Amino acid sequence: MNERMKREAIRYLGYGKNTADDRTLMLIDEAFADIGKTAGPKSICRIFDMEQDADGTIRIGNMKIESRSLSRNLKGCTKVVLFGATLGVGVDRIITRASLTDMSRAVVLQACAAAYLEEFCDQKQLELGEELEKENLYLRPRFSPGYGDFDISYQKPLMQMLDCAKNIGLTMTDSCMMTPTKSVTALIGASPMKVRCPVAGCEACGKTDCEYRR
Ligand code: SF4
Repeated sequence: MNERMKREAIRYLGYGKNTADDRTLMLIDEAFADIGKTAGPKSICRIFDMEQDADGTIRIGNMKIESRSLSRNLKGCTKVVLFGATLGVGVDRIITRASLTDMSRAVVLQACAAAYLEEFCDQKQLELGEELEKENLYLRPRFSPGYGDFDISYQKPLMQMLDCAKNIGLTMTDSCMMTPTKSVTALIGASPMKVRCPVAGCEACGKTDCEYRR
């Protein structure tokens, strides 16, 4: 666990910029230790060509996406990375077990697992960014179904195009719930324009006048 993950977990728990109490801080340390022992993080990514129609409709292979916020974020991109990641079933198991015996521990585990997953995804994205920069392509922030007006239902085609079930053991219920639950799918635009986006995304970026801001 690093300090950034800890700060994120504290934020997910609703403390904002306030300091968490000692008991919560202890639960957080324990939760990260338990997650570290049980998580089996896996990820998959595939790079596709993308096109954008004049009305902003995005075309990736046979998938057609209508989303104003995603369309702004992907403006100028020639390629897009489809990305999926999961912490595996072990983390779900310890959260379920905790929710039967100690609800406050379960809530802390949820927050820490979310922070752990974000950190894992950020690491993968940094590695990918370094690879693509060798081809003069620069990554935009990760954009998941459910952000802005990018409908959650796009999770299904993304998972199919990545063959998530086979590659990382990630499936989805009819109501778009992912199994294991601590998982994400996302698109990451790749543009020939040399814009270096922080991996933490637009919310953490100082370029307030950026035309690609999501
Ligand atoms: S606001 Fe920052 S992070 Fe967001 S697209 Fe622009 S440069 Fe990238």
